[in-house]
Amino acid sequence: MSPHVFSIPMRTRFREITVREGMLVRGDAGWGEFSPFLDYDARQAAPWLRAAREAADEGWPDPVRATVPVNVTVPALGPERAAAVVRDSSGCRTAKVKVAEPGQSTADDLARVEAVRDALGPDGQLRVDANGAWSVDEATRVIPLLDRAAGGLEYVEQPCADVEDLAAVRRRVAVRIAADESIRRAGDPYRVRDLAAADVAVLKVQPLGGVRACLRIAQDIGLPVVVSSALETSVGIAAGVALAAALPELPFACGLATVQLLTDDVAVHPLLPVEGRLPVGTPEVASGALERTAAPPDRVEHWRQRLADVRTPPG
Ligand SMILES: [Mg+2]
Repeated sequence: MSPHVFSIPMRTRFREITVREGMLVRGDAGWGEFSPFLDYDARQAAPWLRAAREAADEGWPDPVRATVPVNVTVPALGPERAAAVVRDSSGCRTAKVKVAEPGQSTADDLARVEAVRDALGPDGQLRVDANGAWSVDEATRVIPLLDRAAGGLEYVEQPCADVEDLAAVRRRVAVRIAADESIRRAGDPYRVRDLAAADVAVLKVQPLGGVRACLRIAQDIGLPVVVSSALETSVGIAAGVALAAALPELPFACGLATVQLLTDDVAVHPLLPVEGRLPVGTPEVASGALERTAAPPDRVEHWRQRLADVRTPPG
């Protein structure tokens, strides 16, 4: 059967994304999701297709746990709405707060983090993600302020864009540093290890080429792993859950509770957290949901072309 192209609006704009698009492919083992972001070229999108084919054709390694703890993700909202996201998070005891949003100030970030701590209570875990927006000096100045406003940060994710800068910040602040873009968008994910640039590795299944590829990186990088999503539907999220379920150690909650950021889903039972955890398994895709989420013809054509480009890279 030909791949299904979906187009699902986001509830809240997340970075630059307002509509999430991608393809579902079907194989002997089930459904796989191919949803590289629209600004990724064929070379960057190639590992995303390997991940989709792994899910569809091979399935995943045996799990060592039946459920996976997840964090609630708090977009760059005002304090009241940020607190409401935590209260409505179906029991998540860890919150990841987006900070350093373009056009916002440190005061906005501090107010959001304080509101999230109030909503979470003193025994929840609070982490922030700057998506590489700070310079070394900014990160060094702002991280201690956020740590105080949070009543203790679990970690700061990707404070700066460059892995060298990440290493410099890690030496200057007392808070753990997590590497995300420095692993999934870098030519060499092991630079993070070699430069001692992070305390935590964030792994995402599609950008890194599948569950088995991520398990190899987890073993070789020698850091605790947090599995996060690339804003997939439940089909793509299930691959992240499979990775988290197969890791020998899972000391932190994973960033896989993102289906609720979409206004619709392709699964009969969307992978939403229950008491702060997601179940391990393969979601059942519903034909009604496929119809509801089907992309318009011009976008179907766009994705067919993208798939063809990834399969036959130029030169
Ligand atoms: Mg991140």
